[in-house]
Amino acid sequence: MPDAKTQYANTLDTPIEYLKGVGPQRAKILKLELEITTFGDLLEYYPFRYQDRTKFFRIADISEEDNFVQVKGRIQHIRKVGEGSKMRLEATLEDATGQVKLVWFKRVQWIEKQIQLYQEYIVYGRPSLFGRFFSIPHPEIEATQEATTNNSKLYPIYHSTEKLKRFSLDSKGISQLVKTILHQKIQYNPEAFSDTFCQKNQLIDRVTAYQHIHFPQTYPQLEAARRRLKFEELFFIQIQLLQKKQVRNDKYKGQVFHKTDLLTIFYENHLPFDLTNAQKRVVKEIYRDLKSGNQMNRLLQGDVGSGKTIVAFLSMLLCLSHQAQACMMAPTEILAEQHYNGLKEFADKLDIRIEKLTGSSKAAERRKLHEGLENGEIKILVGTHALIEDKVKFKNLGLCIIDEQHRFGVAQRAKLWDKNKQIPPHILVMTATPIPRTLSMTLYGDLDVSLIDELPAGRKPIRTEHRYDAQRLRVFGFLRKQIQEGRQAYIVYPLIEESEKMDYKNLMDGYESVSRAFPDVPISIVHGKMKAQDKDFEMQRFVKGETKIMVATTVIEVGVNVPNASFMIIENAERFGLAQLHQLRGRVGRGSAQSYCILMSDYKLSREGRKRLETMVKTNNGFEIAEVDMQIRGPGQMSGTQQSGIMKLQIADLAKDGEILKDARQAAQKILTQDPYFQQDENISIKNTLESVKLKQKVNWSDIS
Ligand code: ADP
Ligand code: MG
Repeated sequence: MPDAKTQYANTLDTPIEYLKGVGPQRAKILKLELEITTFGDLLEYYPFRYQDRTKFFRIADISEEDNFVQVKGRIQHIRKVGEGSKMRLEATLEDATGQVKLVWFKRVQWIEKQIQLYQEYIVYGRPSLFGRFFSIPHPEIEATQEATTNNSKLYPIYHSTEKLKRFSLDSKGISQLVKTILHQKIQYNPEAFSDTFCQKNQLIDRVTAYQHIHFPQTYPQLEAARRRLKFEELFFIQIQLLQKKQVRNDKYKGQVFHKTDLLTIFYENHLPFDLTNAQKRVVKEIYRDLKSGNQMNRLLQGDVGSGKTIVAFLSMLLCLSHQAQACMMAPTEILAEQHYNGLKEFADKLDIRIEKLTGSSKAAERRKLHEGLENGEIKILVGTHALIEDKVKFKNLGLCIIDEQHRFGVAQRAKLWDKNKQIPPHILVMTATPIPRTLSMTLYGDLDVSLIDELPAGRKPIRTEHRYDAQRLRVFGFLRKQIQEGRQAYIVYPLIEESEKMDYKNLMDGYESVSRAFPDVPISIVHGKMKAQDKDFEMQRFVKGETKIMVATTVIEVGVNVPNASFMIIENAERFGLAQLHQLRGRVGRGSAQSYCILMSDYKLSREGRKRLETMVKTNNGFEIAEVDMQIRGPGQMSGTQQSGIMKLQIADLAKDGEILKDARQAAQKILTQDPYFQQDENISIKNTLESVKLKQKVNWSDIS
């Protein structure tokens, strides 16, 4: 066996098989099960919880409410019950207050050899009641002597697997290996941060952090270790994002759009309403980018109804004032259509030629379009991804606005850049899906972010209520009154792929019962199984006000804009996610009348389901809702994060570590401003670590947005 110390400059890079107590076979299993191949990987395999070895339950106090208990006692009986594969091992553990039964159904022979009669043990597990007695199946068990030689009070618990356990790598086995590494002198001090940096940012050093995250003596020690390691993880992601932003700023020039002629004309003569302060601020931010000489890469976040369309249009005018062209790309035909209509209304006032291009545009139309784009007569093009096809060429594309960014891939966006061979167009990404700040700092950390965090004045907040199915008659009564007052309404049914058949049945049953309850009211029904043209026809009837109630699945989630529809009932609301409920609700509240959203559910609700409905009732603010959504589901499940690697964070949690993230980003920004090439002595370790982080990381953080 080669001498690990001489061969690997950095102890942490030493292959795990060279660790005392591992060897080739266990190394293979560690790699297979946990992707651990080096000392460093094992050190970064953190405990998922800690057991407080100073606190014990009295056995007599165990109750059915207890999820997990830790007790200390002596084994009084051991016996095997049953035969062959049905055989189980039972032991009785007794303390001064009572007895509890320990039961094993697996690995009976092996366990039997491990435990000894009359010996004192610390036992941890989930108690359940059998008859009058509590028993703990498959507890974690350890002799008290062993436990006390471990001088830490908080005992680390690691996830293990059946396979690992077969090689004695249960939680205890893993902790033993970690201890072995920590006991070796870590030769090359794997420190990314200088002392000054640590002091400034209130961080402990990394070796101590490793020590304390695995074997903390106290909770404050554990906290400090966690903070240090989380900070480091987030810091190196932010450094990469900010570097990317900086490189792009230095490298990619953008056309300089400083003239405001068209904007002024529009502003003074045609602006249909006063802009909100948020809209004004965002237009200024965009203007600053457009005249800067650098390519704009900006994310515009604004909740449904916050008025992004006018902001998009004003930005286009800045670009048009310089004879350049603008395009807007949307993820679906319905959305493209809607953007087109919204923008055309404004463009017509200035006689600006605007056209639409989608998958269903006819060949003849397309030819004309291509011509108009190439000779520059068409100033604004709105479309689906059809507009990134190679055939679509612009005379001088100056600005691309992309709606709902996360549905487009990197490659598609690259194609947009290519639409202007001389100088890449400015990019404005718009999203109506509010995401928590920690997420946008990570997912869009390399973009500048603008926020429209204010709704136009005079908007009446939608009133949201939660009602149980039993109250349906009253809800329908209220609906009737709304319709009599001339309003229109949506009734939305869930449609989940897994239970599609049942869901369609519910939708149809629902449609029938609504038809029966409102025999004199014209009703539309729209769902995904209808032919596109039938769907369109029904939608149009509702848009024109010919039908008063629209019974639908979530197909109406995006793209329907009927200001007169002020009433929404969402059936089985507990089955929808928060983001979806919020998007759906955004279909009402678009006109001047008071709008209502009624969330119907069964009495039986899961804790999360209830929390979702409560949140919807409590607030209309999309950002607040997104925050709760992330707390419930975790950052990895939020829309837009699936392919991004958020889930692959080793220790930081974007749902909980907002403060640390903010600190880490600030620290990263500061270093990049003061010493962009890491030339100062105290920053050299950052440079080195950054290089090794880039080599190792599974996600390329600088490429995700
Ligand atoms: P979204 O951000 O969802 O795209 P829109 O741009 O479609 O929002 O705007 C929603 C509605 O609000 C539109 O009818 C629009 O004309 C109107 N609107 C936008 N800004 C204002 C404003 N500052 N004052 C009044 N109404 C506004
Ligand atoms: Mg919009």
